[in-house]
Amino acid sequence: MTLRDVLKRGEAELSEAGVPEAECNAWYLFSRCFSLERSGYFLRQEEPAGEKECAEYSKLLALRRTRMPLEYILHETEFMGLTFSVDERVLIPRQDTEILAEELLKVCEGRDVLDLCTGSGCIGISLAVLGKCRSVLLSDISAGALEIAGRNADGNGAAVSMVQSDLFENIRGRFDIIVSNPPYIPSGQIASLMPEVRDYEPRTALDGHEDGLAFYRCIIKESRGFLRRNGILALEIGADQGQAVSSRMEQWGYHDIEIKKDLAGLDRIVWAVVKEEM
Ligand code: GLN
Repeated sequence: MTLRDVLKRGEAELSEAGVPEAECNAWYLFSRCFSLERSGYFLRQEEPAGEKECAEYSKLLALRRTRMPLEYILHETEFMGLTFSVDERVLIPRQDTEILAEELLKVCEGRDVLDLCTGSGCIGISLAVLGKCRSVLLSDISAGALEIAGRNADGNGAAVSMVQSDLFENIRGRFDIIVSNPPYIPSGQIASLMPEVRDYEPRTALDGHEDGLAFYRCIIKESRGFLRRNGILALEIGADQGQAVSSRMEQWGYHDIEIKKDLAGLDRIVWAVVKEEM
């Protein structure tokens, strides 16, 4: 079989299995197995495909047919133009979250930043690499997540510290910015998520308990004790959680509360300031 035949067969296999964006998925797996970029492929598509590469390709296609996310199969993804290692111990960084990182890049110079529920470390590491923060601390309850975050910090040359902590349990000191993209899916909705998310992403990174707001309640209340004067709390939220999260911030004495939208025009971030240390 030629390289072209093999790629076409991969596309057909994934589309028959109902995998979304089958062509594009088949290409990424193909590109990995045959170490080919688009230009190399076009030059060589009529050449015979190597047996070893074909076997590897079949293996990866079979994984994707089970709806394992492409990023877990390839063990990496991109966020803010940086490469992040991922596996099933961390949530796959989402493009929507780049908005949060971009907004924080505008204000993080010279600041001490805490990234709570850091997962792969994508937010904090992007700020450390692309911004001029004074310090960045990554925390997560999961030792597995911190292992990945550490690998990502090293891979991107990011100077960060890390601590294993159930929310603020092991956090000490004060910060200028606390950022978090905590689990926020209501437990009852998890079963209806797409199989890639439902069956493969870590439940602890998704499940925001009965109404999806459990982590926000804790983070909004506790952050006041960890923010300096004029400190910022920046949270990613689900599209329908803007009101609930911002009114809770108001209740707890935060100022300048803002809801920011993502590229799809959906509420995605709630942001607020503490005027005085509390
Ligand atoms: N902070 C990480 C991210 O944005 C992980 C989020 C999570 O596990 N809920 O991808």
